[in-house]
Amino acid sequence: MIKENNQGILVVVSGPSGCGKSSIDQLLIKTRKNITMSISDTTRKIRGEEKDGIDYNFISKEKFLENIENDKYLEYATVHSHYYGTPKKNIDKFLKDGIDVILEIDIEGARKVKEKCPNAVFIFIMPPSMEILKERLVNRKTESKEQLVERFKNAYKEINEVTKYNYVIVNDDLNESLLKMNSILECERCRVDRIEDVYLGNQEEMIHELLVDFDNKN
Ligand code: 5GP
Repeated sequence: MIKENNQGILVVVSGPSGCGKSSIDQLLIKTRKNITMSISDTTRKIRGEEKDGIDYNFISKEKFLENIENDKYLEYATVHSHYYGTPKKNIDKFLKDGIDVILEIDIEGARKVKEKCPNAVFIFIMPPSMEILKERLVNRKTESKEQLVERFKNAYKEINEVTKYNYVIVNDDLNESLLKMNSILECERCRVDRIEDVYLGNQEEMIHELLVDFDNKN
Protein backbone atom coordinates (compact mmCIF):
# COMPACT_ATOMS: atom_id res chain seq x y z
CA MET A 1 0.00 0.00 0.00
CA ILE A 2 2.84 2.33 0.86
CA LYS A 3 5.97 2.24 -1.23
CA GLU A 4 8.91 3.38 0.85
CA ASN A 5 12.17 4.73 -0.38
CA ASN A 6 14.46 1.83 0.50
CA GLN A 7 17.67 3.83 0.58
CA GLY A 8 19.92 3.46 3.60
CA ILE A 9 20.23 6.29 6.10
CA LEU A 10 23.40 8.30 6.49
CA VAL A 11 23.97 8.52 10.25
CA VAL A 12 26.43 11.10 11.56
CA VAL A 13 27.65 10.44 15.10
CA SER A 14 29.73 13.00 16.98
CA GLY A 15 30.76 13.53 20.55
CA PRO A 16 33.88 14.41 22.49
CA SER A 17 36.81 12.04 22.75
CA GLY A 18 36.05 9.57 25.55
CA CYS A 19 32.24 9.90 25.37
CA GLY A 20 32.00 6.26 24.26
CA LYS A 21 30.70 6.82 20.72
CA SER A 22 32.93 4.13 19.22
CA SER A 23 31.75 1.52 21.74
CA ILE A 24 28.11 2.32 20.94
CA ASP A 25 28.71 2.25 17.17
CA GLN A 26 30.68 -1.01 17.32
CA LEU A 27 27.92 -2.69 19.31
CA LEU A 28 25.30 -1.28 16.94
CA ILE A 29 26.91 -2.71 13.82
CA LYS A 30 27.43 -6.07 15.55
CA THR A 31 23.80 -6.35 16.61
CA ARG A 32 21.83 -4.59 13.87
CA LYS A 33 21.23 -5.70 10.30
CA ASN A 34 21.93 -3.60 7.21
CA ILE A 35 24.26 -1.10 8.81
CA THR A 36 27.95 -0.44 8.36
CA MET A 37 30.59 2.06 9.42
CA SER A 38 32.58 4.24 7.11
CA ILE A 39 36.31 3.84 7.72
CA SER A 40 37.99 7.24 7.79
CA ASP A 41 41.46 8.15 6.63
CA THR A 42 43.66 9.79 9.24
CA THR A 43 47.19 11.08 9.52
CA ARG A 44 47.39 10.41 13.27
CA LYS A 45 49.42 7.51 14.66
CA ILE A 46 47.92 4.12 15.54
CA ARG A 47 46.70 4.09 19.16
CA GLY A 48 46.53 1.09 21.52
CA GLU A 49 44.91 -1.96 19.92
CA GLU A 50 43.81 -0.18 16.73
CA LYS A 51 44.25 -1.86 13.37
CA ASP A 52 44.99 -0.26 10.02
CA GLY A 53 42.07 -0.66 7.61
CA ILE A 54 39.68 -1.51 10.43
CA ASP A 55 39.66 1.41 12.87
CA TYR A 56 41.07 3.87 10.36
CA ASN A 57 43.13 3.91 7.22
CA PHE A 58 46.33 5.33 8.69
CA ILE A 59 47.97 7.30 5.89
CA SER A 60 50.70 9.91 5.51
CA LYS A 61 50.02 13.64 5.38
CA GLU A 62 51.29 13.67 1.76
CA LYS A 63 48.80 10.99 0.73
CA PHE A 64 46.00 12.80 2.57
CA LEU A 65 46.77 16.07 0.75
CA GLU A 66 46.86 14.21 -2.56
CA ASN A 67 43.43 12.73 -1.79
CA ILE A 68 42.07 16.22 -1.06
CA GLU A 69 43.44 17.40 -4.44
CA ASN A 70 41.69 14.48 -6.13
CA ASP A 71 38.36 15.22 -4.42
CA LYS A 72 38.32 11.85 -2.69
CA TYR A 73 36.59 13.04 0.51
CA LEU A 74 32.95 13.63 1.31
CA GLU A 75 34.34 15.83 4.09
CA TYR A 76 37.58 16.23 5.97
CA ALA A 77 38.77 18.25 8.96
CA THR A 78 41.76 18.87 11.15
CA VAL A 79 41.04 17.45 14.59
CA HIS A 80 43.54 17.52 17.47
CA SER A 81 46.22 18.66 14.99
CA HIS A 82 45.73 15.73 12.58
CA TYR A 83 43.79 15.29 9.35
CA TYR A 84 40.70 13.06 9.34
CA GLY A 85 38.52 12.46 6.28
CA THR A 86 35.55 10.40 5.09
CA PRO A 87 36.33 8.70 1.76
CA LYS A 88 33.45 9.12 -0.72
CA LYS A 89 34.11 5.66 -2.10
CA ASN A 90 31.41 3.08 -1.24
CA ILE A 91 29.09 5.39 0.71
CA ASP A 92 26.65 5.99 -2.17
CA LYS A 93 26.64 2.33 -3.10
CA PHE A 94 25.83 1.23 0.46
CA LEU A 95 23.00 3.77 0.72
CA LYS A 96 21.55 2.73 -2.65
CA ASP A 97 21.63 -0.90 -1.51
CA GLY A 98 19.59 0.01 1.57
CA ILE A 99 22.51 -0.20 3.99
CA ASP A 100 22.69 2.50 6.67
CA VAL A 101 26.14 4.08 6.96
CA ILE A 102 27.56 5.54 10.17
CA LEU A 103 30.05 8.39 9.96
CA GLU A 104 31.82 8.85 13.28
CA ILE A 105 33.16 12.36 12.74
CA ASP A 106 33.82 15.62 14.55
CA ILE A 107 31.54 18.68 14.65
CA GLU A 108 33.33 20.41 11.78
CA GLY A 109 32.92 17.38 9.52
CA ALA A 110 29.28 17.03 10.59
CA ARG A 111 28.62 20.63 9.55
CA LYS A 112 30.04 19.92 6.09
CA VAL A 113 27.98 16.73 5.73
CA LYS A 114 24.85 18.66 6.69
CA GLU A 115 25.45 21.04 3.76
CA LYS A 116 25.97 18.20 1.30
CA CYS A 117 23.51 15.62 2.66
CA PRO A 118 20.66 17.40 4.46
CA ASN A 119 18.75 14.12 4.82
CA ALA A 120 21.42 12.61 7.03
CA VAL A 121 20.58 12.01 10.70
CA PHE A 122 22.78 13.78 13.22
CA ILE A 123 23.31 12.18 16.64
CA PHE A 124 25.43 13.65 19.41
CA ILE A 125 26.82 11.42 22.18
CA MET A 126 27.29 13.20 25.51
CA PRO A 127 29.25 12.04 28.52
CA PRO A 128 27.15 12.00 31.72
CA SER A 129 29.42 14.72 33.17
CA MET A 130 32.78 16.40 32.56
CA GLU A 131 34.15 14.57 35.63
CA ILE A 132 33.28 11.21 34.09
CA LEU A 133 34.73 12.29 30.73
CA LYS A 134 37.97 13.32 32.47
CA GLU A 135 38.17 9.92 34.23
CA ARG A 136 37.49 7.97 31.01
CA LEU A 137 40.16 9.91 29.12
CA VAL A 138 42.79 9.50 31.85
CA ASN A 139 41.97 5.81 32.41
CA ARG A 140 42.36 4.77 28.79
CA LYS A 141 46.04 5.74 29.01
CA THR A 142 46.43 6.29 25.28
CA GLU A 143 47.33 10.00 25.25
CA SER A 144 50.20 12.11 26.49
CA LYS A 145 49.51 14.92 28.99
CA GLU A 146 49.44 17.51 26.18
CA GLN A 147 47.13 15.39 24.03
CA LEU A 148 44.80 14.88 27.00
CA VAL A 149 44.55 18.63 27.61
CA GLU A 150 43.89 19.25 23.90
CA ARG A 151 41.13 16.62 23.77
CA PHE A 152 39.57 17.86 27.01
CA LYS A 153 39.56 21.47 25.78
CA ASN A 154 37.99 20.35 22.50
CA ALA A 155 35.29 18.51 24.44
CA TYR A 156 33.96 21.82 25.80
CA LYS A 157 33.89 23.28 22.28
CA GLU A 158 32.16 20.23 20.82
CA ILE A 159 29.49 19.97 23.52
CA ASN A 160 28.52 23.58 22.80
CA GLU A 161 27.45 22.44 19.31
CA VAL A 162 24.97 19.85 20.53
CA THR A 163 21.89 21.86 19.49
CA LYS A 164 22.92 21.59 15.83
CA TYR A 165 22.20 17.84 15.99
CA ASN A 166 18.83 16.05 15.66
CA TYR A 167 19.28 13.76 18.65
CA VAL A 168 21.38 13.56 21.79
CA ILE A 169 22.23 10.43 23.77
CA VAL A 170 23.76 10.78 27.23
CA ASN A 171 26.01 7.75 27.39
CA ASP A 172 25.66 6.59 30.99
CA ASP A 173 25.00 2.94 30.25
CA LEU A 174 26.17 1.26 27.03
CA ASN A 175 23.13 -1.00 26.60
CA GLU A 176 20.72 1.82 27.17
CA SER A 177 22.58 3.98 24.64
CA LEU A 178 22.40 1.12 22.15
CA LEU A 179 18.65 0.87 22.70
CA LYS A 180 18.32 4.59 22.05
CA MET A 181 20.39 4.37 18.85
CA ASN A 182 18.18 1.55 17.58
CA SER A 183 15.06 3.52 18.49
CA ILE A 184 16.30 6.58 16.60
CA LEU A 185 16.96 4.49 13.50
CA GLU A 186 13.53 2.85 13.72
CA CYS A 187 11.94 6.30 14.10
CA GLU A 188 13.84 7.63 11.12
CA ARG A 189 12.60 4.71 9.00
CA CYS A 190 9.02 5.78 9.75
CA ARG A 191 9.42 9.38 8.61
CA VAL A 192 6.77 10.39 6.10
CA ASP A 193 9.39 11.89 3.82
CA ARG A 194 10.63 8.35 3.13
CA ILE A 195 7.32 7.53 1.42
CA GLU A 196 7.65 7.45 -2.35
CA ASP A 197 4.12 6.49 -3.23
CA VAL A 198 0.81 5.60 -1.61
CA TYR A 199 -1.49 3.20 -3.45
CA LEU A 200 -4.95 2.57 -2.01
CA GLY A 201 -6.58 0.76 -4.94
CA ASN A 202 -9.66 1.91 -6.82
CA GLN A 203 -12.11 3.57 -4.45
CA GLU A 204 -15.29 2.62 -6.42
CA GLU A 205 -14.23 -1.03 -6.56
CA MET A 206 -13.41 -1.08 -2.86
CA ILE A 207 -16.85 0.35 -1.98
CA HIS A 208 -18.50 -2.24 -4.19
CA GLU A 209 -16.57 -5.01 -2.38
CA LEU A 210 -17.45 -3.48 0.96
CA LEU A 211 -21.19 -3.62 0.10
CA VAL A 212 -20.94 -7.20 -1.16
CA ASP A 213 -19.17 -8.22 2.07
CA PHE A 214 -21.84 -6.47 4.10
CA ASP A 215 -24.67 -8.24 2.26
CA ASN A 216 -22.99 -11.61 2.64
CA LYS A 217 -22.64 -11.16 6.37
CA ASN A 218 -26.21 -9.92 6.98
P1 5GP B 1 40.29 9.83 17.53
O1 5GP B 1 41.65 10.34 17.23
O2 5GP B 1 39.97 9.88 19.01
O3 5GP B 1 40.00 8.49 16.92
O4 5GP B 1 39.27 10.84 16.83
C1 5GP B 1 39.34 12.19 17.09
C2 5GP B 1 38.14 12.88 16.51
O5 5GP B 1 38.18 12.83 15.08
C3 5GP B 1 36.81 12.28 16.92
O6 5GP B 1 35.92 13.33 17.27
C4 5GP B 1 36.35 11.59 15.67
O7 5GP B 1 34.93 11.52 15.62
C5 5GP B 1 36.89 12.51 14.61
N1 5GP B 1 36.97 11.85 13.31
C6 5GP B 1 37.25 10.57 13.02
N2 5GP B 1 37.18 10.34 11.71
C7 5GP B 1 36.81 11.51 11.13
C8 5GP B 1 36.55 11.91 9.78
O8 5GP B 1 36.63 11.15 8.82
N3 5GP B 1 36.22 13.21 9.59
C9 5GP B 1 36.10 14.11 10.61
N4 5GP B 1 35.73 15.33 10.32
N5 5GP B 1 36.35 13.76 11.90
C10 5GP B 1 36.68 12.48 12.15
